[in-house]
Amino acid sequence: MDVIQLLPDNIANQIAAGEVIQRPASALKELLENAVDAGATRIKVFITDAGKNTLQVIDNGKGMSETDARMAFERHATSKIRKIDDLFHVRTMGFRGEALASIAAVAQVEIKTKRAEDELGTFIEIENSVVKKQEPCVCENGTNICMKNLFFNVPARRNFLKSNASETKHIIEEFIRVAMAFPSIFFSLHNNGQEVFHLEAGTLKQRVVQILGNNVNQHLVNVKEETDYMNIYGFIGKPEASRKTRGEQYFFVNNRFIRSAYLNHAVSSAFAELLPKENFPLYTLFIELDPAQVDINVHPTKQEIKFEDEKIIYAFVQAAVKHALAQASIAPSIDFSL
Ligand code: ADP
Ligand code: MG
Repeated sequence: MDVIQLLPDNIANQIAAGEVIQRPASALKELLENAVDAGATRIKVFITDAGKNTLQVIDNGKGMSETDARMAFERHATSKIRKIDDLFHVRTMGFRGEALASIAAVAQVEIKTKRAEDELGTFIEIENSVVKKQEPCVCENGTNICMKNLFFNVPARRNFLKSNASETKHIIEEFIRVAMAFPSIFFSLHNNGQEVFHLEAGTLKQRVVQILGNNVNQHLVNVKEETDYMNIYGFIGKPEASRKTRGEQYFFVNNRFIRSAYLNHAVSSAFAELLPKENFPLYTLFIELDPAQVDINVHPTKQEIKFEDEKIIYAFVQAAVKHALAQASIAPSIDFSL
């Protein structure tokens, strides 16, 4: 007897969702990135119960047509790439076409979306990958998406969620990472009706100070180097602003927050003995390079990436930080050549 069967779509989506959506914060990251990709200039987030109960993102981006609004929830449905080669040129945050399908497989979702050229928008209610309601609606230009009762249909995963305090911490972390990368966008975050972040659009330095606090302002040292291969810009904190924890270390590659112990080390090693023992430098650094030089598709959340030539990046980051420290007269002047 043959025993193999294809899984129904909603089960396949629930399984796939496990890779992308682990907690409310992962859904927030995906929804924020969609808003950024849609060209929004204002993005507002509302959460209740640490995002377990509701997590809503409202943007004033380009919105979707009625057909696209429905298509957006299909698995592998994306407007961002067309062929595999596009992966190595992609400038958008998303491209896998999995986020909305995953979220709709493990939560109840309501979306209102409208393009500027349309008179009416589209309202869709979807749950367990099944559309419950779809109708025209009156709404603002842009997209208003609300995720409710995450993992209501996967109790085992719902049980794995941590306390509200802990999940809220993750939410704020993801919120900050996206807000830091896009200082020209207004962001706000409301937690149980209370506004906890209100970040007016401005420069990167203003955004860093809005997020890390006024007291870091006096400790920020500008980093900026440009070569044909790559650019780096951003800020490092003077040694006295270093901390006992790694909390305030942000690396972005082409505006995408990444985790890299290797690049962390490049920065710390540039500080060398300037840094008190067991302290970590504060930094927000942006690397820009040809997307063909990085593979962002090695991990579903895209927080780990692969560089074509990791050693060059390491040397460049280290040299740029040393140079910045020297220019701020924090280290003895050094010969800066790559
Ligand atoms: P991806 O972002 O990888 O393309 P998603 O599942 O996150 O996949 O979204 C699917 C598609 O839905 C996107 O490619 C985009 O065309 C559309 N979309 C999603 N969110 C928004 C939004 N906030 N505004 C406009 N379009 C959106
Ligand atoms: Mg997306």
